[in-house]
Amino acid sequence: MKSTLQSLYLLQLLDTELDELRELRGDLPETVNTMEEELKMVEQRIEECDEALKKGAVERSQMEKESLELIAKIDKYKGQQLEVTNNKEYDALTREMETAESTIASHEAQIEQTVERAEELKTSKTEFEARHEELVKELEVKREELKEILAATNEEEKTYETQREELLKDILERDLVLYSRIREAKGKAVAPIRRESCSGCYNVVPPQMILEVKKNDRLFICEHCGRILVSEEIAQDTSI
Ligand SMILES: [Zn+2]
Repeated sequence: MKSTLQSLYLLQLLDTELDELRELRGDLPETVNTMEEELKMVEQRIEECDEALKKGAVERSQMEKESLELIAKIDKYKGQQLEVTNNKEYDALTREMETAESTIASHEAQIEQTVERAEELKTSKTEFEARHEELVKELEVKREELKEILAATNEEEKTYETQREELLKDILERDLVLYSRIREAKGKAVAPIRRESCSGCYNVVPPQMILEVKKNDRLFICEHCGRILVSEEIAQDTSI
């Protein structure tokens, strides 16, 4: 049992070290991730603007070409009207011209819309490009910061993690479940008794319980904070 108590206490020491290392990094990894996501999104928006501009330009030149062809047709119809011999043919040509004119008018309206849309797209694109430039600069700084912190903490973290993996082999599943549950709720799951008190919550531990805990032969839980109590001896004998 003593070794179980020691293992649980050692597990806590390792977890505390690991927590501190991760705290050093803070939310920097997350920040870098979020910025990378945003950068991707901005790049996509710029691409979309370019595609829409290209599509608009193609549509516009298509309509302009059609309108020019229609203008040529109208000229041709006018010439034909001078040569027709009956009203029926004359009216038919008039209708053709009217249709062509209305198509030209509709093209003009659409071209105007396309021009307006292109202006909007260009404005958006400029804004996205400015954000892109800003993000690239910010990211460079944050990535460098993260790199430095990782370089400083990675090796230590790996050492503790390896030690932790090894240690877990000695701990029973049910003890680990208990440990993890308390750790999740309290941060630290194991509390040595110090000066007759639980060092987790500073409440006095009854003398009888202190004697029991000192035997190191079973798990005791602090009745105030729910942490696993260990004797001072266990704490002294255990280090990373
Ligand atoms: Zn306590």
